[in-house]
Amino acid sequence: MEEELLKIKQEINEAIEKIENKKDLGDVKVAFLGKAGKLTAVLKGMRDVPSEDRPRIGALVNEVRSLVEEKISQKEEEFNQQELAEKLKCEKVDITMPSVGTKKGALHPVTSMTDRLVDICVNLGFSVIEGPEIESDYYNFEAVNTPKSHPARDMQDSFYFSDNILLRTQTTAVQARAMEMLKPPFKIVVPGKTYRNDSDATHSPMFNQLEGLVVDENVSMADLKIMLSVMMKRLFGQDTLIRFRPSYFPFTEPSIEVDVSCPQCHGQGCKLCKNSGYLELLGAGVVNPKVLDFNGIDSKKYKGFAFGFGIDRASMLFTGNTDMRSLFKNDIRFLKQSR
Ligand SMILES: [Zn+2]
Repeated sequence: MEEELLKIKQEINEAIEKIENKKDLGDVKVAFLGKAGKLTAVLKGMRDVPSEDRPRIGALVNEVRSLVEEKISQKEEEFNQQELAEKLKCEKVDITMPSVGTKKGALHPVTSMTDRLVDICVNLGFSVIEGPEIESDYYNFEAVNTPKSHPARDMQDSFYFSDNILLRTQTTAVQARAMEMLKPPFKIVVPGKTYRNDSDATHSPMFNQLEGLVVDENVSMADLKIMLSVMMKRLFGQDTLIRFRPSYFPFTEPSIEVDVSCPQCHGQGCKLCKNSGYLELLGAGVVNPKVLDFNGIDSKKYKGFAFGFGIDRASMLFTGNTDMRSLFKNDIRFLKQSR
């Protein structure tokens, strides 16, 4: 047995020297350490060794086994190093190459229009207020001078959950809540989603409004005109003009619709403004004193004015888009284009 072990000691050195590649190494490993390998066969014979010789032979077995294992792992490490060196040689990184780059995202046109308008209003001293999209009939209609029998209700085709609960048709509902809560004087602006049963190229069942309300002593239509003029100039440019037309809203008396000179042709007439030179953008007016009184504000002392802005329509002007529905389809090509 001792002889066999010494023979293995010699053979492993020879076998290692002959190895040329990883496959050879695998074969040597099996030939010496495998189930039917040389060393394993010798170990099986240990039980026949007389007990007085066991310590000596045992020590020798351990020595030979460590040697075999060490030689094999040394060779393995050698191959790994070689492979790594070759890999590094052909996988050179050229740090002067331009980077792949990351694609920049952008805000949705409606979001960015809302942000711009809110910024303008905040700079003019307005506070931003939000309210629920599921609203009671009271705040959506009654508190803003549209009782149940009022013909103006027909102007808005509403989504009702029950007799008294609906998806708000106008952010005016939040203004009613604000009048109940706040003590005048105050200036608030309410951005948010609103819902009406209406869908075509210029109407969407969900659309975004931004409404403003100012309540103070001695505010008038003149203040409203100046405020809107400043806002539209900041939004569309300093040469922007605004034009008033009489209109009707139950919330305000008198009521007006506000046109803004076309930002594309500056009033000359183009496709965007259908050659009129102006775009219909806002509804506004002096708050009906009845509405103030109804919501607990003394209309003898305080006056108010209000305006409402269609955010989707305004963002369509900026993106040159003619179909409002494309704002909500999330077509990536449209979003990229309007970036
Ligand atoms: Zn135009």
